[in-house]
Amino acid sequence: MAVIPALREPVLAIHGGAGTIDPGSMTPAKERAYRDALVAALRSGQHVLSAGGSAVDAVIAAVVSLEDCPLFNAGRGAVFTSDGRNELDASIMDGATRAAGAVAGVTCIRNPIRAAHAVMTASRHVMLIGPGAEAFAAEKGLAKVEPAYFHTPERWAQLERARAEGRLELDHDGAAKSASATSDDKKFGTVGAVALDAHGNLAAATSTGGVTNKQWGRVGDSPIIGAGTWADNGTCAVSGTGLGEAFMRCCAAHEVASLMKYKGLPLDAAVTEVATITVPANHGTGGLIALDSAGNVSMRFSTTGMYRGVARGAGEPEVAIYGD
Ligand code: ASP
Repeated sequence: MAVIPALREPVLAIHGGAGTIDPGSMTPAKERAYRDALVAALRSGQHVLSAGGSAVDAVIAAVVSLEDCPLFNAGRGAVFTSDGRNELDASIMDGATRAAGAVAGVTCIRNPIRAAHAVMTASRHVMLIGPGAEAFAAEKGLAKVEPAYFHTPERWAQLERARAEGRLELDHDGAAKSASATSDDKKFGTVGAVALDAHGNLAAATSTGGVTNKQWGRVGDSPIIGAGTWADNGTCAVSGTGLGEAFMRCCAAHEVASLMKYKGLPLDAAVTEVATITVPANHGTGGLIALDSAGNVSMRFSTTGMYRGVARGAGEPEVAIYGD
């Protein structure tokens, strides 16, 4: 008789970006809107997991919800490049198989995370960029939008402030020295999700518009497997947010898995080391969320806050914004 493996309690964790997010930096209405959006994203992924769906489908559901919400720097509401465009990056990884997919610099795919998933499942490649990625997404029947779909007035105002000061937003020193940068300018706003499904499989996904005022086809860590996203059933699933250049210099997401695998660190110790020591040592700030196959969750950051949340089984989603 076939042995049916015991099902686990599924777990989902998400982030909506790290940054200078202090109590009092937002109106109560805006804070409510962020909390509601995080809960809605958790519920979307939870729904998939409680129906027996895969970790991969759960992270897609959660990230699509955040991409569709204009509050976050991914999909609609993404930040602008120096020439006033939205160029989006996303990646996904399946911890069961190490299959991975990513897109970078796309401008008309409504949900870049779906395109990353299509690259993972329906191409021979791991990453497609720009017009090639867009043609591939169209071929796969993914929703296409006019670039104006991504525009929001708040992000345009951020670009104008950054242009006026010649500032790459969220360059840690630049932002800190800038007199006119508002607290909204000091938030990264990238979104990500990590999930453990009932079958014990992990997955991770990350999606972003990058950093405001970015130039010349700049690509950050979010679509780079190992830098912004990593998943391997043997260690953990990880998604990051912060200054991409710093995360790329230390392969931040993979570094968490390496600390677990080669140094024997438990999940939280590994995440804490990378988020609070390794990334800052590489001249950036930000945060990481991670989940291991035992269902442990860690969410650590070197900024003052990070939009984040966790849902276990069918339990009430828990969300947080500020430091502990
Ligand atoms: N990591 C992203 C990037 O550098 C930015 C973010 O986290 O908001 O593109």
